Amino acid sequence: LTFEEANLCQTLNNNIAKAGYTKLTPVQKYSIPIILAGRDLMACAQTGSGKTAAFLLPVLAHMIRDGITATRFREVQEPECIIVAPTRELINQIYLEARKFSFGNIFGNFLDVNLVGQRIGLKQVKYLVLDEADRMLDMGFGPEMKKLISCPEMPSKEHRQTLMFSATFPEEIQRLAGEFLKSNYLFLA
Ligand code: AMP
Repeated sequence: LTFEEANLCQTLNNNIAKAGYTKLTPVQKYSIPIILAGRDLMACAQTGSGKTAAFLLPVLAHMIRDGITATRFREVQEPECIIVAPTRELINQIYLEARKFSFGNIFGNFLDVNLVGQRIGLKQVKYLVLDEADRMLDMGFGPEMKKLISCPEMPSKEHRQTLMFSATFPEEIQRLAGEFLKSNYLFLA
């Protein structure tokens, strides 16, 4: 499967070509159509599998399709997509990957890596991504993740699309997926 066949969008296809990607990795091949269809997803994926682009590309495609509201974000700090990851290093990698796909539009203003300690509005959240969920649990961030989804402002799981990526799928992660994702979520191993 080529990226042209993955039904993303032209802007993204151009940027993917610029990044030098030609073929989808397996996790991309299976995740992208599920995410484009608007379904919640729990995917088992290791570092190096291309998991970052697997969630970034379809979410960016949705956002481009719906019109970008960077101005609104700058003014009121209300992101449409929140990506949560265990370490600053990983956040930085996700940021760099997102930058690659963001040429040719105003997305550059949209990406903000350093929201730690800042107050941001959650009302507009349409996409919530939990990357390396098992590592976040191991590092003791379980309560923080639960705090985030139980913020009164955070749209309920019925009103957002939630994507979870994890290298392992122990019982604790299954419980978390049951809590965070819609009950009809798809599981990709
Ligand atoms: P990740 O698993 O998301 O950390 O990605 C591992 C590396 O693979 C990163 O350096 C990506 O830039 C690269 N990558 C992701 N998808 C592709 C692809 N389809 N073709 C070539 N390289 C890719």
